[in-house]
Amino acid sequence: MARQRRSASETRNGANQASSEQIPEPADHPASDAPEGRPRGAGSKPAAGLYLVATPIGNLRDITLRALDVLAGADLVACEDTRVTGKLMRLLGIKAKLTPYHDHNADKVRPALIGKLKTGAVVALASDAGTPLVSDPGFRLVRACIDEGIMVTTLPGPSAALAGLQLSGLPADRFLFAGFLPSKGAGRRAVLKELESSPATLVFFESPNRVADTLGDMATVLGNRDAAVARELTKLHEEVVRAPLFDLANRFSLVQPRGEMVIVVAPPGDGEAIGPDELEARLRGAIAEGASVKDASALVAAETGHPKREVYALALRLFRGGNEE
Ligand code: SAM
Repeated sequence: MARQRRSASETRNGANQASSEQIPEPADHPASDAPEGRPRGAGSKPAAGLYLVATPIGNLRDITLRALDVLAGADLVACEDTRVTGKLMRLLGIKAKLTPYHDHNADKVRPALIGKLKTGAVVALASDAGTPLVSDPGFRLVRACIDEGIMVTTLPGPSAALAGLQLSGLPADRFLFAGFLPSKGAGRRAVLKELESSPATLVFFESPNRVADTLGDMATVLGNRDAAVARELTKLHEEVVRAPLFDLANRFSLVQPRGEMVIVVAPPGDGEAIGPDELEARLRGAIAEGASVKDASALVAAETGHPKREVYALALRLFRGGNEE
């Protein structure tokens, strides 16, 4: 299901902060678990604390062995939507006590969760799908645990952001996860402007009904960089479309794609360079379709991300012998 951008209350996007703190090793889940088999702690109760449990983003078999252990052994599973996580538990054959923890009740529920954790409870935090805290609730709960000296650890697993990045074919050595952009054009373009000079591959979440507009704004603000739209990852209809931003915007404005998607955009200077020949071809195409020199210039500037003035100057040279109107 497509999701809206979340409020900043619990769900925060952005760079992770490294911490020098050592995470205490849960007694039943030592780091030396045998890689070939089930962890030694399987079936026994995990140590008290908060466990951030990643869950599948489409393929049930992406659940990890550690996730099964902790979900089965937890006193309480805090989750965004108890119906969604309840269904997952049934599919996994796990009986767990679920409690809702989402942006709208987090401030109210958090003190009670911290209270339980302080008395030695094992609490798992799960999102509807994927990795908790990544455009999902949990950041403030983790912060509260750190402040209270409560053990908090992670059970890594699926995340749409990393899966999309992997399949984009774009550099993955340096990336910036930007979560959901604002839904309105002006706000969206303002955030894109902030990201424009970042020397990193950009990773975004987006909903199907906004993807064409968002790709259009990306092409305008960031230029016609190489990009990818990764859809329905790990599901039956997984699809990755790789093309320059303008072509992607065109494609998805003709047919609105379905399902969940990640947009990945190349760093500046890494995408397709649109040279004068390509600009000329696009201008000639627009003029042949009946556009005025001015309109053709505006269109090609928007398509390619080239400054309007430069495109207009080229159009004047081509079609008017360089004379301004
Ligand atoms: N925390 C989750 C994670 O780590 O994957 C992401 C939660 S966010 C609220 C949901 C967004 O992730 C969707 O709107 C979509 O942009 C993206 N997403 C989730 N599952 C996906 C999938 N299977 N394929 C592509 N994108 C997906």
